[in-house]
Amino acid sequence: MKFMPDIYQVICAKCGGVCCRSYEIFLTKCELEKIKRSGFDFKYYKYGAGWLLKLGRGPACAFLKKGIGCRLKKKFKPLDCDLFPLGFIYCRGKFEFYLLKECAYHKKIIPAEAKKIRKRILLRLKTWSETERETYSRLIAARPKSSMIAV
Ligand code: SF4
Ligand code: SF4
Repeated sequence: MKFMPDIYQVICAKCGGVCCRSYEIFLTKCELEKIKRSGFDFKYYKYGAGWLLKLGRGPACAFLKKGIGCRLKKKFKPLDCDLFPLGFIYCRGKFEFYLLKECAYHKKIIPAEAKKIRKRILLRLKTWSETERETYSRLIAARPKSSMIAV
């Protein structure tokens, strides 16, 4: 479940998970250990202070199933999945949040809504180490600036 469930229930159903076919999801150590307990088969590789979930055939995330969507239960889902189409850059102890235009429906997500949910995201980010935050930030910072809207 995303941080903005009401909006996402409608738009993600229409979209069918473009984001689940386009990106390798960032995993912290704790998230990787959790997913391993889900019982699914998946591939991943080391990236900085964390890991990236390898895209499978399609290409698509190993957990995406046609007609069903994500098969990963909420309790196993990494923050990167819940966060999208928001992302953050962590710099000198501060988080800057962005709405990522790669989401085909990003215009339907009102920046004010995005601001409201930041508190909940920050709570989950307390469990991430400094280096995990910095590694995730590298992925976001590598995107073209024109594809990001500060929120
Ligand atoms: S790309 Fe956007 S609308 Fe589509 S599934 Fe991902 S978050 Fe939902
Ligand atoms: S784990 Fe689920 S939500 Fe995350 S990318 Fe894969 S299919 Fe999409």
